[in-house]
Amino acid sequence: MPRRKPAVITIDGPAGAGKSTAARLLAERLGYTLVPTGAMYRALALSVMRAGVPAREGPELRDHLAHRSIVVAAGHVYLDGEDVTDPIRSREVARVTSDITTFASVRAKVTPLQRQLAKAGGVVLEGRDTGTVVCPEAEVKFFLTASLDARARRRQAELAAAGTPVPLDAITTELRARDTQDETRALAPLRRAPDSIELDTSDLTSDQVVERLLASINRYRGGAAKRTPATRVNRLYTVMRIPVVALARAMFRLESQGRDNIPATGPVLLVANHSSLLDPPLIGAAARRQLIFLAKVELFQFPLFGGLMRRLNARPVRRDGADPAALRTAMRVLEEGRALLIFPEGTRGDEGVIRPAKAGAGMLAVLSGASVVPVYVRGSGRAWPRGRTFPRPAKVTVTFGPALRFEAEHGADRKQQYEVASREMMAAIARLRDGSADGAEKRWSAPYAVRSK
Ligand code: C5P
Repeated sequence: MPRRKPAVITIDGPAGAGKSTAARLLAERLGYTLVPTGAMYRALALSVMRAGVPAREGPELRDHLAHRSIVVAAGHVYLDGEDVTDPIRSREVARVTSDITTFASVRAKVTPLQRQLAKAGGVVLEGRDTGTVVCPEAEVKFFLTASLDARARRRQAELAAAGTPVPLDAITTELRARDTQDETRALAPLRRAPDSIELDTSDLTSDQVVERLLASINRYRGGAAKRTPATRVNRLYTVMRIPVVALARAMFRLESQGRDNIPATGPVLLVANHSSLLDPPLIGAAARRQLIFLAKVELFQFPLFGGLMRRLNARPVRRDGADPAALRTAMRVLEEGRALLIFPEGTRGDEGVIRPAKAGAGMLAVLSGASVVPVYVRGSGRAWPRGRTFPRPAKVTVTFGPALRFEAEHGADRKQQYEVASREMMAAIARLRDGSADGAEKRWSAPYAVRSK
């Protein structure tokens, strides 16, 4: 088997979510290099404090930064050659770090160093913006969260172990302030990458966290391993998409919203409402990435048409998306690291009406562990509803929502998890139908995980 390039793995999240420990243990288990990005910023903050440089953007700060060297090696951080791994852990340094990381000159100094470290792969980057700004192309991204109380208790235990007992409410206030600062700053704010895997660590030990991360990586990379032939571009699809887009614009004034929500690489499951035969080509025209479609096997029986469909990324399934053969086909497509479009409702329905998903859709989402991008097609059911012989001109808008992720929970009732996933994806499509694009964005950044309770 050819050797694969080791992955770039990012772990982001708020202070105290358990990122540092998880990243360190994960790097050890994988034999990867650890890049603790917060520590690099902390080292600069320490240097600013020591030099008495005012913590504000300007020539003095820029000049100071220009002469600093920050090196990360074996999990330690060196400032101008001095190992500062321990002194940067103080509360005072944390506070100044939060301040200076809002400055463009500080981020411009550190971000390229981090990218350089990630270049060869085989790294675990840990911080606030590693999956969104530093390495948006990272192969596996995690976003760790935990309740404010859990995070404050962890920080308190850490400080106590280091000989600095601090009351819990003081730590809670500090954490809250850092969260606000990290989330609201203009540059590289803390936010979850749409294609990241979210994990709430409140009730997990660090070993449990690492086990979960490893399981996700194995699943994800297991799929990615078979990706090579799939990422080849289908030329015919590229060529045929041009007249399809032109026609869709002319006849249906096709508009596409939120298409950046489709991750550029890796397995992704697009789930759409269905009210017209136009839905597959119009979603294909609206998405930048090449999609794989499932279509009734009967359609492939016409020799020329069948061949063309196959060459345009359609895969035959015996019935609608709920039968075992369809599930296997779909799993294979996702394992190849491709983007698969399915219609969880199965058959076509009326314009604007969202019906329950077949169980297979939720099962596919949970079993594949792929990012699930909800899609709402508006207007296709007016343009070419069921029962009409020919389409008629009508405006069609295709909206892609932020990706959801349905992680399988160990020990939880499988069937229930599939049902929850099916329900959640249809609810997400309904929200796209009901909300403004902006409102939808905000509400949708909330995590969607399958829970057993
Ligand atoms: O993770 P840690 O607590 O060491 O990070 C210290 C501070 O550095 C954070 O509060 C955050 O403001 C900043 N930081 C950042 N971008 C990163 C990592 C950390 O702005 N990638």
